[in-house]
Amino acid sequence: MRIILSVCFITAILGGPCSIAQNQHIDLTGVIDLHVHAGPDSRPRAMNDWEAVKMAEAAGLRGVLLKNHFTLTSDRATLASQLVSNLQVFGGIALNRSVGGINPEAVRQMVAFSGGRGKVVWLPTFDSEFYVRRLGTSDSFVPVMESGEPAEGLVEVFSIIKENDLVLAMGHSSPTEVLALIPIAQEYGVNNILITHVFGQDPTRLQIQQMAATGAIMELDWLAAYTNPSILDEYVEVIQSLGAESFVISSDFGQEGNPDHATGMRDFIAALRTREISQEQIDIMAKKNPAKLLGLN
Ligand SMILES: [Zn+2]
Repeated sequence: MRIILSVCFITAILGGPCSIAQNQHIDLTGVIDLHVHAGPDSRPRAMNDWEAVKMAEAAGLRGVLLKNHFTLTSDRATLASQLVSNLQVFGGIALNRSVGGINPEAVRQMVAFSGGRGKVVWLPTFDSEFYVRRLGTSDSFVPVMESGEPAEGLVEVFSIIKENDLVLAMGHSSPTEVLALIPIAQEYGVNNILITHVFGQDPTRLQIQQMAATGAIMELDWLAAYTNPSILDEYVEVIQSLGAESFVISSDFGQEGNPDHATGMRDFIAALRTREISQEQIDIMAKKNPAKLLGLN
């Protein structure tokens, strides 16, 4: 806690985004957080699913998407949604090694789990080739492209996504892979594509423009700005130049020691507002686009 507070203090002095409590006035009605980590998990989390949805509901959020890197969350979303009455809870599956990598059967089961809360398929995240190679470790990875073609099983995954009107999230695929796979996924009828925390994979500005031109939605996450406030300037620049229609904003919170998701969303919105992003643009990125991806009104 002491470390977090002192980081906040320093970033606040530098005009950074940190705020803990002063953004309580920000209204979260209609806001959906598409990047909610919570326990149980194999990584340390600040709260469990139940606590996360209760806090999100109390803060006035409209919905949350539970994300786990290693196991499906459609089942957990169903259980957690029974604890709340004014919050939509969704889940999905990330195609890392723990579920067999690019495994169409895992996606089928994620969708079939009772409750119908499974909505998103993330391509490999921590086990992506791009991520593992960038870390320079000798860990195994799950390729999404092989010899310039989608990896085995991937077009079948695209077909399941289309049949069930799911969202394809690009995980930690490289910008080059993202740009190669989007038109193929679209050919297979995938309409809802989310480019997971787009800046996390270090795209060039041209690649971001090309991503926007595909009609995919790019995610801007608060966690990155919370740890590196200077990225906010890049967020603002792409929102202003490409239009809010191409983006969603999410918290990516849940890490032990970090504030709760609603606080993250509030602080994100406040930081964008102080940088001349309009409420209308915020509404598109925090409410309209996430709802559209999830098939809500
Ligand atoms: Zn995350």
